[in-house]
Amino acid sequence: MEESDAQCIKREVLGIGDRRKHHTRKATPLRSHAKEPDTHHRLYRFRFYPTEEQAEQLARTFGACRWVYNEGLALRSNAWKQHQVNVDFAETCRALTGWKQAEETAWLKDVSSTVLQQSLRHLDQAYQRFFKGQAKHPKRKKKGRSRDAAIYVRTGFTWVEDPERPGTGLIKLAKQSQPLDIRWSRALPAGTVPVRLSVTRDRAGRYFVSTLVEERIPPLPAAFVPGSREPKALGVDLGLAALVTLDDGTKLDHPRLLKRYAEKLSRLQRELHRKVRGSKNRGKVRRQIARLYALIKDVRRDMLDKLTTRLVRENQVLVVEDLSVATLMRAARGKGRRRKARLNQAITDAAWGELLRQLRYKCEWYGRTLVIVDRFFPSTRRCSSCRATGPKMDVSVREWTCAQCGAVHDRDVNAAVNLRDEGMRLYWLVATGLPPGKKMPMVIKASELEECLLAA
Ligand SMILES: [Zn+2]
Repeated sequence: MEESDAQCIKREVLGIGDRRKHHTRKATPLRSHAKEPDTHHRLYRFRFYPTEEQAEQLARTFGACRWVYNEGLALRSNAWKQHQVNVDFAETCRALTGWKQAEETAWLKDVSSTVLQQSLRHLDQAYQRFFKGQAKHPKRKKKGRSRDAAIYVRTGFTWVEDPERPGTGLIKLAKQSQPLDIRWSRALPAGTVPVRLSVTRDRAGRYFVSTLVEERIPPLPAAFVPGSREPKALGVDLGLAALVTLDDGTKLDHPRLLKRYAEKLSRLQRELHRKVRGSKNRGKVRRQIARLYALIKDVRRDMLDKLTTRLVRENQVLVVEDLSVATLMRAARGKGRRRKARLNQAITDAAWGELLRQLRYKCEWYGRTLVIVDRFFPSTRRCSSCRATGPKMDVSVREWTCAQCGAVHDRDVNAAVNLRDEGMRLYWLVATGLPPGKKMPMVIKASELEECLLAA
């Protein structure tokens, strides 16, 4: 098909405006300028309390973002299905201009256009992940199912720093007359200007504003094993009996508070199943569950934040297993288990995901290396004393004796030690292959090691 034919189809069939009319409009790139050395993007999240007027305006904004996302999705997938034409981000933006001018969707004008564009950007990112095979085809956003969120780029809000309390100040969103009533639980770095805001409402009805700032975070001095030049390494095993086991034998579990929440959650879930679908009481229980989930998330995030900061500060190299190991293990065991067990499992899974996410960005901030060991590495079955690989073990086995050397192992501690050793093997493999003067990569992933070595 000729390029001009494709353009014609796009314009006429899909109702996208003519490019010539908009040739002056350019899509703003997400990150346009180069960051200074040691600056990192950092998110600070604050709760805020909207006025009635703001809440209404935000409800319209969230709804419009969802609508635009879904409409953009329909446009792109229909163009492909019917005409094998690929509609890109800039073209969906032009379509958006058309929707705003149409009479039946004139309400879109009540919402800042940069916010709506961000919704299309978000869709485009979902498509890019799909094209790369990293994600499934984007799905429609449903009210009450998808999170309410709106992204405001630099032109979508005003920020006035409070001279008496630097790092706090007034944030006013586009199309709103009053600044947000923000609870500044901590200050942003003084003198900073937020790059981007994301305004969300969780299912418990709480409003948050996440401010993305560019912050200079100096790397920490390298951590060595005392009295040597060997980088200090730590193996971290993610498990079911304990959330985290370290190679020195330390075990960390969910705090008691989280366990109590989990119990309450399973009770509410049972209750929900007894209620009639669509009834008022069911809605009430549903909201209670949402609130509890939100609480669990907060407590967990807080706990893991302290933990990961400590681990990253104290060690130079952190070794974890690929998360899919854990998920695979669960898939095999999950069938036919009780509801409560599944629920606890879901909470544990989310904690692992959050833990890895935090380790990853903190390693980058502080100049540490995170090694992600391959999922086929037999961390549990291998004896950390003599390196002999034993037979497969049931998950219920907590302690075992090596048939080769007779060493008695705690299942999880042994796994953590193995992870550390394997991680350091990979670390040195990369370190010795590095040209002089080149810094160690922040993340070494076993499954991408070859690419890592080639790039160096
Ligand atoms: Zn052994």
